[in-house]
Amino acid sequence: NDCLFCKIISGDIPSSKIFENEFVYAFKDIDPQAPFHAIIIPKEHISSMNEINEGNSEIIAHIFVVINKLVKELNIHETGYRIINNCGKDGGQTVNHIHFHIMGQRELKWPPG
Ligand code: AMP
Ligand code: ZN
Repeated sequence: NDCLFCKIISGDIPSSKIFENEFVYAFKDIDPQAPFHAIIIPKEHISSMNEINEGNSEIIAHIFVVINKLVKELNIHETGYRIINNCGKDGGQTVNHIHFHIMGQRELKWPPG
């Protein structure tokens, strides 16, 4: 498996882990675009949002439950934050393992570029 994020999950590539359980792995983005910028991924390799279906969508719900806990631990749940999924070329996806960005601790602009 030549996937960068699968290698992060396995530990073959180092990362700054912030959370892990049986289903998901979360770590600091290597090129943070906000004071807090983490990535959360399913341990199962799913390449993008295009691959989500009735059979695997539970992991997406689980990811959002974990995000809910993480933002409360970080105490950014009241100041706010942004969850981002980039899909495909026009979406700006650069790693083909589905992931959600969690960004906070500054006021983020809208719309994105
Ligand atoms: P995307 O552009 O949505 O595919 O996001 C990929 C993200 O992964 C980018 O924000 C990168 O900075 C981040 N990234 C790439 N390599 C690593 C790494 N080795 N450790 C942590 N984050 C990474
Ligand atoms: Zn992968």
